[in-house]
Amino acid sequence: MSERGEETNTYGSLLAAVVDEIADPLLVPNLGTNTAALMARYPTLPALHLWGGMGLTHSLGLGVALARPERTVVVLDGDGSLLMGLGGVATIGVLRPPNLLHVVLDNAAWGNTGGQPTHTASGVRLEDVAAACAYPVAVRAGGPAEFVEALRRYVAEPRCTMVVAPLPYGDPGPAPRGPEPVLIKRDFLAECLRNPRA
Ligand SMILES: [Mg+2]
Repeated sequence: MSERGEETNTYGSLLAAVVDEIADPLLVPNLGTNTAALMARYPTLPALHLWGGMGLTHSLGLGVALARPERTVVVLDGDGSLLMGLGGVATIGVLRPPNLLHVVLDNAAWGNTGGQPTHTASGVRLEDVAAACAYPVAVRAGGPAEFVEALRRYVAEPRCTMVVAPLPYGDPGPAPRGPEPVLIKRDFLAECLRNPRA
């Protein structure tokens, strides 16, 4: 249960909320658990799956957001990856594109290497880091209802936002065998160039 006494976040609840609430997102998921969970549940959803791009998810998402300002870019980050690239948080805070929604699935663990605790397990609050780096909105969503609420607030008033969603560590298993990286890039670029309103 969350601090507000509601259900706990899960990969399923968080990903379903993003798919349901954000229209035509350009998805940039972190390697490891996030990519595995996204590929398993939404295998045909266009996304820039970052095989091995640890520490760079949010920086790549920033680049996509700046290049395609008319599309909503959803970065599905992990706590370990984000901790490896905190400098990028400051850069996002300076540029703060309104079409960038930075979701952090915080399982307080290095999911790719066996679940060892990350610094968030010892009290580091990534939403506080984002707020200190001048993100216009930086919030923590303790459970599924709070997470949906945060997404709806973003949709109602798009501003560069970080939503940190704590969830229990659970090894989702290996990611389904996805396309080769060169095909992921090709398909994602095609999606970037598509006009969803045409
Ligand atoms: Mg993690």
